[in-house]
Amino acid sequence: MKINKNAVVTVDYVLRGDDGLVIDSSANHDGPLSYIHGIGALVPGLEAALEGMEKGGTISTRLEPADGYGEWKQELLAEVPRERFEGVTDLAVGMQFQMGTPNGHFTVTVTEISDSMVKVDGNHPLAGVALNFEVDVLDIREATAEELEHGHVHGPGGHES
Ligand code: ZN
Repeated sequence: MKINKNAVVTVDYVLRGDDGLVIDSSANHDGPLSYIHGIGALVPGLEAALEGMEKGGTISTRLEPADGYGEWKQELLAEVPRERFEGVTDLAVGMQFQMGTPNGHFTVTVTEISDSMVKVDGNHPLAGVALNFEVDVLDIREATAEELEHGHVHGPGGHES
């Protein structure tokens, strides 16, 4: 079968920046990644590149930020009064929090801490970064009804239940 919506696809991948350095790869995790195609599990440009491929296929593709994790946005930087982090022990640069805003929920990363203010950045760490993917398609199968209901893959490369 070919990769289409709701197929469970298993891939090995390497992601590099334009400088050639490895940002992420399946080898850095538990091995091959299994995901349900067409439900937004991968960045949009990569799903589009994989659409229609067959088992054993390989792609090498460069995605602009808009097709990856989005453009970097100045308006996602914020300063938050320190007292909003009162309950947090060991507040440190690099920590991540969920923050509710009028525009929805964002995962923000702490970038700077002073006595009264905490600076946070709601951009994805890879926002504004061009993504160079090399992907090997290892396997393709139909998703089960349960997997579609849960929105994730069960078994090797996926969730336990
Ligand atoms: Zn499940």
